[in-house]
Amino acid sequence: MQIAFIGLGNMGGGMAANLVKAGHSVRAFDLSAEALARAAESGCMPCKTVAEAVEGAEAVVSMLPNGAIVSDVYSNDVLGKAPAGALLLDCSTIDVATARKVAGAARQAGYAMVDAPVSGGIAAASAGTLTFMVGGSKDAFARAEPILAAMGKTVIHAGDSGAGQAAKLCNNMLLGIHMIGTCEAFAMAQKLGLDPQTFYDISSVSSGQNWSMTSYCPLPGVGPQSPADNKYEGGFATALMLKDLTLALAAAEEAGVDPAMGKRARELYEAFAQAGNAGRDFSAIIETLG
Ligand code: NAD
Repeated sequence: MQIAFIGLGNMGGGMAANLVKAGHSVRAFDLSAEALARAAESGCMPCKTVAEAVEGAEAVVSMLPNGAIVSDVYSNDVLGKAPAGALLLDCSTIDVATARKVAGAARQAGYAMVDAPVSGGIAAASAGTLTFMVGGSKDAFARAEPILAAMGKTVIHAGDSGAGQAAKLCNNMLLGIHMIGTCEAFAMAQKLGLDPQTFYDISSVSSGQNWSMTSYCPLPGVGPQSPADNKYEGGFATALMLKDLTLALAAAEEAGVDPAMGKRARELYEAFAQAGNAGRDFSAIIETLG
């Protein structure tokens, strides 16, 4: 299949390479010459503009920083320029309202579109083991599934347009909250004189068990290997957690709900990011708790 790929950064670079490995012909564009050169090394055909990349495309995949950029790229350079009937897949994490607006404009211009944000970081993007949560019609999902399966291990239809972003933002709000809760529990256990490994052995098989504890433990030397064992480098940057919590709270406001824990998690991550930790893994927030 001929696929245009827009946005070849930390995530998009690996994803585009996996489409090439799956046998697709990928025409790629990024504003960054370095990102474009890396994509060329992995077998993509580098293009000078979005319009050039979408020429002849049967599908367009984007992995861009935010909703404003996604909206600009689709309205200015994809809609009306990609061949009629091309399937559009935006994998960026963006706000639900923009995802629905862009999908509506695509529909009006005669294209089927899905929002397909991902769970999993840069390593999963390179390894092709991402989870995709997909919003769009059943027909659009059926067309998108094999393309996404070449870049991930799990592809789930979440509902109509915007539902993929809604699932992603609810999931990441929960992640932010249970990471902070896990950090607080470890900090308190130590203050109460418990050995952290002993607390892990007990809580990881008790009702406090959760992913932040057993898959991504915020304490070095406890539980499986995690960014904590690498001085909180790599992993999921605090800036990205803050971005997702901000988008989640915007969606909550729009839906008329008031998530007290989500709001508090955002405040704590904002303060942590502002204190010079934006580029560090989000589990490093344990240093400020307790
Ligand atoms: P990144 O900044 O590394 O990559 C974004 C790329 O988009 C850059 O190469 C940039 O040059 C390019 N770009 C910006 N504007 C453009 C335009 N108008 N036209 C073409 N290219 C343009 O970011 P990333 O880490 O790859 O994240 C991409 C998306 O994936 C974001 O929405 C992010 O929230 C989401 N995400 C990231 C992770 C992660 O761990 N990094 C995990 C899950 C989801």
